Amino acid sequence: MNGGRFFNRQAETLSRRELEMVRDRGIRWSVKHAYENNEFYRRRLQQVGVRPEDVKTADDLRKIPFTTKDDLRSLYPYGILAVPRTSLLEVHATSGTTGVPTLGFYTQNDLDVWGEVSARSLVMSGLTKEDILQITPSFGMFTGGFGFYYGARKVGAMIIPTGAGFSRRQIQYMLDFGTTMVCAVVSYILRLTETALEMGVDPRRDTKVRKGVFGSEMWTKEMKKRVAEAWDMDVYDIYGFTELCGPGVANDCYLHDGLHLWEDHFYAEVVDPKTGEPVEMEEKGELVFTTLTKEASPVLRYRCRDISYVYDSISCDCGRTHRRLGYISGRVDDMIKVSGVSIWPSAVESVLLKYPELGVEYQIIVSREEGRDRVKVVAELNKDAKTVDAARLRKKLEEDLRETLMTGVEVQLVEPLSLQRQEVGKAKRVVDMRS
Ligand SMILES: [Zn+2]
Repeated sequence: MNGGRFFNRQAETLSRRELEMVRDRGIRWSVKHAYENNEFYRRRLQQVGVRPEDVKTADDLRKIPFTTKDDLRSLYPYGILAVPRTSLLEVHATSGTTGVPTLGFYTQNDLDVWGEVSARSLVMSGLTKEDILQITPSFGMFTGGFGFYYGARKVGAMIIPTGAGFSRRQIQYMLDFGTTMVCAVVSYILRLTETALEMGVDPRRDTKVRKGVFGSEMWTKEMKKRVAEAWDMDVYDIYGFTELCGPGVANDCYLHDGLHLWEDHFYAEVVDPKTGEPVEMEEKGELVFTTLTKEASPVLRYRCRDISYVYDSISCDCGRTHRRLGYISGRVDDMIKVSGVSIWPSAVESVLLKYPELGVEYQIIVSREEGRDRVKVVAELNKDAKTVDAARLRKKLEEDLRETLMTGVEVQLVEPLSLQRQEVGKAKRVVDMRS
């Protein structure tokens, strides 16, 4: 528990009135900055007849059209800039698995802001100067490694910048250096857990790691519970992506009830992914972000494809006044449409992980046979499970999944550790063989 610790108490506990003033000032600045210094945004605003002075508050932002991932791709590489090239210090890129990557550029001020929000998030996750922090996301075009690094430098903790991969060596460093906290892509902490056990290392007993902060992928509370138990660890969830800065945009506090969004730097709306219309407070939809302080590559109303909601209630017992986002339940693109029914991988994960007989890895395979969509869920048995009646378990899982998903799926149980693991990057849990 780290109740009461802040990296920047003043900024994290601003009164709502002050915070809303800071937010609206940021919106005005950002719209004017983008309009005056970026051709794409100037044209966009001119097309709908909006001048910067027409946007005074968060509500006025709705006059501005959305920015999409395709817009940003069309601006590759330098079209998103709103500062001279010579003011840039750094660039990062999304993994670009679906084509041209989207980019984030940074001035000195942008790097300072990124370090600040990352530091606030890490301290919220329990990081102190006394900690030894192992940073396992890669240091490269991916924002993971550097995002944690810039934050941890501000906090003053000792950093072990291992970067991605080499799982056995990661575990060895944890033992040798006495790592107390770890950051990772969600699927990678699962990999590290397995690697430790393969090496005969019990993370609970043999390591000093008691805090962890994980992000970059959707994960359910059932999965968090598994990780927390395997390491006897307090598990935190961090949110962010390249187009805003990287990890550190939002983070959950020790009460683990939603992610505090740093509202002095980012403004979030939630819209219906189909119509683009705003949804009701606390209703789920697609997150849309506007940067409030970003100089190099500002984004206005960027549809980030992540699905979540905004909390209605402001107060949180941790003392922070920044509004909370719900935990990310998936991406718009993750939704699987099967014979008219929508299936979210998070719903499948929630069901599977309720069964102690199952491990943490699974795959959802969608195919089309004889004109019908078929869904198969491949789940690994738990290595530590006692004798399992596989036929009975399968039948129970199929019933449980049918009830949750409102459609029939086939379940296949496989041996422990038989699904392919990702050493670097994100897990591939959905395989759609239809197109
Ligand atoms: Zn809180």
